[in-house]
Amino acid sequence: MKYLGIKPKRPKIAVFDFTGCEGCELQLVNKEETVIDFLGSVDVINFREISSTISNDFEVAFIEGAITRDDEINRLNEIREQAKVLIALGSCACFGGVNRLKNAYDFKKANQEVYGKQHKETLPARAVKEIIAVDLQIPGCPVDKPEVERIVQHLVWDVPYQFPAYPVCFECKQQYTTCVFELGQLCLGPVTQGGCRAPCPVGGSGCWGCRGPAADPHLKEFLQIADEREFSRKEINERLSFYSGFEGML
Ligand code: SF4
Ligand code: SF4
Ligand code: SF4
Repeated sequence: MKYLGIKPKRPKIAVFDFTGCEGCELQLVNKEETVIDFLGSVDVINFREISSTISNDFEVAFIEGAITRDDEINRLNEIREQAKVLIALGSCACFGGVNRLKNAYDFKKANQEVYGKQHKETLPARAVKEIIAVDLQIPGCPVDKPEVERIVQHLVWDVPYQFPAYPVCFECKQQYTTCVFELGQLCLGPVTQGGCRAPCPVGGSGCWGCRGPAADPHLKEFLQIADEREFSRKEINERLSFYSGFEGML
């Protein structure tokens, strides 16, 4: 790959999984029509899902998953020491994601019910930025592959990336979707960061906020509209809490 006759440097990247489903990692190697170009623009030196190569000589580290165990904290600190750029990949890494739902439960009781005597050590789920400094967050459950590709190209050319400031509604209306509010469903599109091209409302179900809050989410006005449409506060709060992106804003 060349641009204006210049061959860019291929950054050495590593991908690490913590507590998550590995769906975001899978997105990195998804999309057959672009995967060759994508993987050709970087030097993959540590990525368990696709390669047996293991090296710690990386420059860019992608972190997938929330942090829920003591040993994960040590590992994360070691990665931070090595990485020039550390990227939280996906809602679990950015916010704690669905893992954070467990924080509302009594761990001791849950451990007994699920594992009996085989007790498992677990900490409250946290986002990566709650443990170490993060240079960039790519939200989404899973992340949007075209967006990851754009971000990696910005990294390759050393140009800052701007996330969309508009909410999901913007991309939803661009596709002439009938608003699901009109169909009696709740949707977090008005308060959620755009960039995913609104697959959920376009598919007929409301947005669940996996990308976290938009730049200026107008939560107060959103709650007012949801109240007028007679959605209960319990239902609204459950929706806003699902991916943890609105943690601390409720
Ligand atoms: S953000 Fe979603 S897809 Fe990505 S690891 Fe977490 S649960 Fe899986
Ligand atoms: S369906 Fe959701 S995202 Fe689409 S316009 Fe309505 S509120 Fe916005
Ligand atoms: S529409 Fe909402 S829940 Fe669906 S991918 Fe986009 S941000 Fe996530």
